[in-house]
Amino acid sequence: MIAESKRLMRVVILFILLIFPVSAAAARHMVVIDPGHGGSDTGVKLSKSVYEKDVTLAIAKLVRKNLSNANDIDVRLTRLDDKNVSPVNRKKIAGKSDADLFISLHVNAGFGMKAKGYEIYYPVSDIPSAKKSSSGEILKDMTQTRRLNNCVRFAQIVQKNMGKVFPREGRGLINAPVLGLQSLTAPAVLLEMGFATNLENKKKLRDKKIQQAIADALTRSIKKYFSTDGTS
Ligand SMILES: [Zn+2]
Repeated sequence: MIAESKRLMRVVILFILLIFPVSAAAARHMVVIDPGHGGSDTGVKLSKSVYEKDVTLAIAKLVRKNLSNANDIDVRLTRLDDKNVSPVNRKKIAGKSDADLFISLHVNAGFGMKAKGYEIYYPVSDIPSAKKSSSGEILKDMTQTRRLNNCVRFAQIVQKNMGKVFPREGRGLINAPVLGLQSLTAPAVLLEMGFATNLENKKKLRDKKIQQAIADALTRSIKKYFSTDGTS
């Protein structure tokens, strides 16, 4: 019996030694980037031929390209070309990818022609405080609090980096029940990158150099978020 236990112990130790370096090396983070709109859903218009759907896709692809050589971050997009994707399917892609972070990209419009700059939305808690009594609800609440804290932390990093592309144009972090962010399990933010109704913003968002600069700001933000998160 003792010899048998020793043999079993050796097998267990060997197993642990084999598994751990592999799992450590495989500790990768999955970022799902969601280029807003697509197909017949054009989003807001930036010129005769350029729509929100084109700008969001271009920037999402640039972020993916930027991170293609990162050894600990994988990027998946909710669409790779100009097609309609329902909010349900965008959520499904995030779920199937086991996303650690979800970033939805959009372009703003409205509030008159003077309104300009970027806004960052993050989801609100959806557990009513009256229900926080059972242990299941408390656990769910703790998980959600942790997720919301991560949303805010990432939103703050993005805010800082976007400020380098659009100096003094940050319109702040907005806590709101945004469709497409609410029911996800991964920390999620929605970035409204600028206003299509503002001449200056519209011109900038169509500019390839600015698109690259926004992608670079997001890339830096993603790297920073995962290098300091403590979730791995
Ligand atoms: Zn939009």
